[in-house]
Amino acid sequence: MALMPIDEALRRLLAQATTTGVETLRTEEALGRVLARDVTSPTAYPFEDNSAMDGYAVLAGTGPWDVVGESAAGAPFEGSINADQAVRIFTGGVVPKGANTILIQENCERDGALVKTGQPPQAGRHIRRLGSDLEAGAQVMVQGSSLRGSDLSALAGLGLGQVTCHRRPRVAIFSTGDEVIPLGSKRQKGQVYDSNALFLRHAVQQSGADIIHVDHLADDRAQVDQALRQVIDHADLVLLSGGVSVGDHDHIGSALSALCGGLNFYKVCMKPGKPVAAAKAGGCTLLGLPGNPASTMVSFELFARPMIKALSGSATPHRTLRLARGLERLKAAGTRVEFLRAELCVEGVTPKARQGSGDLSSLLTVDALIYRPANAAETSAGDLQPYLALEGPDCGTAPEAQWDHLKSQV
Ligand code: AMP
Ligand code: MG
Repeated sequence: MALMPIDEALRRLLAQATTTGVETLRTEEALGRVLARDVTSPTAYPFEDNSAMDGYAVLAGTGPWDVVGESAAGAPFEGSINADQAVRIFTGGVVPKGANTILIQENCERDGALVKTGQPPQAGRHIRRLGSDLEAGAQVMVQGSSLRGSDLSALAGLGLGQVTCHRRPRVAIFSTGDEVIPLGSKRQKGQVYDSNALFLRHAVQQSGADIIHVDHLADDRAQVDQALRQVIDHADLVLLSGGVSVGDHDHIGSALSALCGGLNFYKVCMKPGKPVAAAKAGGCTLLGLPGNPASTMVSFELFARPMIKALSGSATPHRTLRLARGLERLKAAGTRVEFLRAELCVEGVTPKARQGSGDLSSLLTVDALIYRPANAAETSAGDLQPYLALEGPDCGTAPEAQWDHLKSQV
């Protein structure tokens, strides 16, 4: 069977992603959530003309001015002033009626009740005008955006106490394999510790989903069938690691196929992570990820994370492809798109020394996945390399299409 291109597999997978309801949240609690509605400003901002500096509010002129009152932040001067008068003002203080500029403290001299200057201020200086930042009704965010801390700060500043967001998807996680044992238990010959469950739990949480179930399954078809039947009505996404190849003890592909009446795709043209099986049962998507730790990690990043993001309503479900100076020579690539676990530093990107799909060392201090297009020629140290950034803003375009766009720059 021909291997499916990554973007085609993603297209099929994300075509199944329907968001699962909206909820209104307090702004304080909305970190990481995806907006289900556009947000408009309920008010002009700043709310009033206010001072950006400490000094005196006056009508532009040469002075001197008679100081008749004070406007501090939160304690406005209620009257109005004429051309000969000034109000002592502090940063954030409301500019009184009759004033049109701020004479800054550093440029003036106070002499009893009078204030004088050698540098008369121009009209409008150091005043933050009502509505100069945002007009009432202005669109401030669009639906599909993920809320970051700075977004919440701005929304709170506008007095918005609630936001309408998509519900977080519910995810069930299963590691599988007779040899896989929980961390903390005594290892017998041939056994390995369950590292994938830990990765998946953390990665699912980081992607913005709720974990509703975590379990381990033996290489036993009946046990797999039963576990899946129990969970599909409650989960939006089921992630399984291991058992998805074609060995005698691999039951996940056939179990998904039987449960769902066929697979959406199986085997993707990538390395590591080729045997990825996707299927859908009712409203629940099931993804079988290959069990080698680096395969689980890479296939999660390429498929499971975008699916969680799409189920969360995000308009930008994909990791972003960027360019960095490759700090090492890379040998010619094979026929599949390859993802090298790598570290980023100011100078560029360095692949981890070992790149086997079972190498745990390739998972340590990883910031990036270097993207090696299929059949890429050998590259030299110093050449620009595309990589998927494991942090930072996401992208609306699938990885291979991002590469098509970027490759002219290399
Ligand atoms: P599989 O995908 O089941 O063929 O497993 C491929 C390799 O990954 C085998 O060497 C497994 O022992 C290993 N493996 C499978 N599941 C896990 C897991 N949860 N944690 C660590 N290694 C695993
Ligand atoms: Mg196995």
